[in-house]
Amino acid sequence: MAQQINHPDVVEPGGVIGILGGGQLGRMLAMSAAQLGLQTHILRPDELSPADDVASATTKSAYTDEAKLLAFAAAVDVITYEFENVPAASVNFLTSSGAKVRPGVAALEKAQDRLVEKTFLNEIGAATAPFYAVDDLASLEAGLNHVGRPAILKTRRLGYDGKGQTTITKEEHDLPGAFEKAIEHAWAEIGAAPSILEGFVPFEREISIIGARSVDGDIRLYDAAENVHRAGILKTSTVPAKASAVTIQNAQEITHKILNALDYVGVIGVEFFMLKDSGLIVNEFAPRVHNSGHWTSDACAVSQFEQHIRAVAGWPLGDPCRHSDAVMENLIGDEVNVWRTHAEQSNLSVHLYGKREARPGRKMGHITTIK
Ligand code: AMP
Repeated sequence: MAQQINHPDVVEPGGVIGILGGGQLGRMLAMSAAQLGLQTHILRPDELSPADDVASATTKSAYTDEAKLLAFAAAVDVITYEFENVPAASVNFLTSSGAKVRPGVAALEKAQDRLVEKTFLNEIGAATAPFYAVDDLASLEAGLNHVGRPAILKTRRLGYDGKGQTTITKEEHDLPGAFEKAIEHAWAEIGAAPSILEGFVPFEREISIIGARSVDGDIRLYDAAENVHRAGILKTSTVPAKASAVTIQNAQEITHKILNALDYVGVIGVEFFMLKDSGLIVNEFAPRVHNSGHWTSDACAVSQFEQHIRAVAGWPLGDPCRHSDAVMENLIGDEVNVWRTHAEQSNLSVHLYGKREARPGRKMGHITTIK
């Protein structure tokens, strides 16, 4: 018989938070856990991970190795994840062996598949870009008729930082014979994988809301951040966002709905497109702490990382109030090399992730300027 795990409802100081994934998000979660007198145990497939420097224990394991998952579950008091592509089957396995995994599998399953995610969002009354399921060239063509052009073809699963997507523009299709070529090219570009075609949203700006829900259903929401992407990767998050109080309240209400509909426990990041008329379209949500919430470490009494640890440990949530205006800027690739220049600035905090190699496009750290 499989080993039976018995996790407590509340993890007391001295207890152990298990984290699936060891990237910078795991690292910053582990730092906040330590601040609360909790230990962390990181399970990740890599030999070394950014979280190792600050975690109490690590396990090197594939996310699918059931024996190692069970031993990990037995060594911790609750399990969370910092990475939304942990296989849902692994979370189901852990839950069925008695482990508490927070947030639960429902959020993970929805966030892992863009089609399931958008269908869910529409079901709870949140607007999304028009979309169409694409499984072959015929459905891609039908999808273009449905959502119009320009459109973005995205793989349903495993996309991040703008990877696994390609834009189909309007102009190229107006040339004779170019339409077939363009759709064949787009389909090949995303690897002929099950996909979703989204209508292009002519947004004015992008904003996000970081929200948290406790085991008791208490909800706390952070102020909206305005996000600017560069080459598909988040570059800056600025608070306050340039949006009216009503728009921010609408974004917070949608986040509230998502948290309740998923019976969520932990921190979530919800990304929105804001239209010219201030209407809001949900782009996607991440069932974890979120890059566009890093400013909370320096501009709020309780950061998103502490909030997530509080939530999954069954603690009361903290105050998400923002005490300062702030701009968070990601240090991507070799931008990290000028850390010293940043360190010389006043009103600026430097966060480096301890990654050994500054590859192009890799998030190496961030800085937050307090205004
Ligand atoms: P995603 O990986 O879906 O978050 O997309 C990365 C970025 O591409 C977004 O932050 C937007 O800047 C842009 N983008 C994605 N989907 C759309 C869309 N349907 N319309 C316009 N821009 C989009």
